[in-house]
Amino acid sequence: MSIDESPSALAQRFHDLDLQRRKAEASLVALVDEVDRSGAYRADGHLSVSGWCKALGKYSHAEANDRVRTARLARHLAQVSVALADGTLGVAQSHELARVFANPRCGDRLVEVIDIFLDVAPELSHKEFCILVRRWENLADVDGAHGAAGRAHDRRRASVVNTMGGVHVDAHGPALAGSAMAEVFERFCQAEFDADWAAARAEFGDEVTEGKLARTRSQRQFDAFQKIFEQAAATAPGSRPAEPLVNIHIDEKTLNNAIHADDPEWEGHLDPIDPLRRRCETADGIPLAPGEVLAAALAGRVRRVVTRADGVILDMGRRQRLFTGAVREAALLGAHTCVWPGCDIPASRCQADHVVDWRHAGETSAGNGAPMCGYHNRFKNNGHTPHRDAQGLWHVLRPDGSEIR
Ligand SMILES: [Zn+2]
Repeated sequence: MSIDESPSALAQRFHDLDLQRRKAEASLVALVDEVDRSGAYRADGHLSVSGWCKALGKYSHAEANDRVRTARLARHLAQVSVALADGTLGVAQSHELARVFANPRCGDRLVEVIDIFLDVAPELSHKEFCILVRRWENLADVDGAHGAAGRAHDRRRASVVNTMGGVHVDAHGPALAGSAMAEVFERFCQAEFDADWAAARAEFGDEVTEGKLARTRSQRQFDAFQKIFEQAAATAPGSRPAEPLVNIHIDEKTLNNAIHADDPEWEGHLDPIDPLRRRCETADGIPLAPGEVLAAALAGRVRRVVTRADGVILDMGRRQRLFTGAVREAALLGAHTCVWPGCDIPASRCQADHVVDWRHAGETSAGNGAPMCGYHNRFKNNGHTPHRDAQGLWHVLRPDGSEIR
């Protein structure tokens, strides 16, 4: 092993080893399926194939469950084991497909879209892949999504308990309301961060790092939370926010289905649900029940961003130094997280910066704006270039032109 190896050589070694792991997973899943079907696990006194896995592999409950479900998925949809064995499907991705296949209300419909999922699997991070699968599940399992939203609504609760040890705030409720609350919370947290950063900069100049800020992230979060309450107390009761706080990304077809939810003549519900074109979610990819969104949109509490069938957001074509307002939002809708490979920071906490740097005459338009977290936005100035391919997927190139995979 040498520390002088180039980033691409190290990446290649990782890739080779991980390919072996995927092949091994395909073989393991085939064996588990064989033992599951034959009932051979009973000979040693195990009650289930899951118990057999736990005994032999020292698996956790979750690990055994994942593998048994993947075995059942591969039994019905053979292309899954083929994709694992040829390395185009990741191990965690196969477990996510197996999870949705085990959903009794929509698992049998996975056959309609499995090829789409296998097609895009090599291009997507695990998080993006899960967003796609959950997006599909949200629309295929209408009763489940509707039921979950209804239960969250019925069981909503919040408490502020003050004790000698300090205050404890706890709340649970529906995802749509949570999206608006999370957006407000993030804005207040950002303001606290900006204040600390400006103060540290005045003291340390360009040497400022996060470690030199006056407060920790957790401390700023609490202070932000407190300020929300203080500002609410200073606001006249009954006044309304100037604009909807949350953008909901929904396609025309899903919206139409929600409108016709109770119409027995409407046949749109039976169409296969293409997870690349259909969606009902926040900008961060949190799935929402279409009926819930429709009601909130009618009440003017959320703004709908209805996409065309091809999902492409219109080019705004205005030259502006920074993405703001509608342009920023449209750019953020192009991805759910920071576009840097492996980075999980949600789009709502990213800056929509230019792909082609402004100094190099980059047009400020939505198709050109990649959501990137603060760290990667600065890091890319080392000569890295993000770009978006014809399918709308983001890639990042190293200064030498090779791609970070
Ligand atoms: Zn990032």
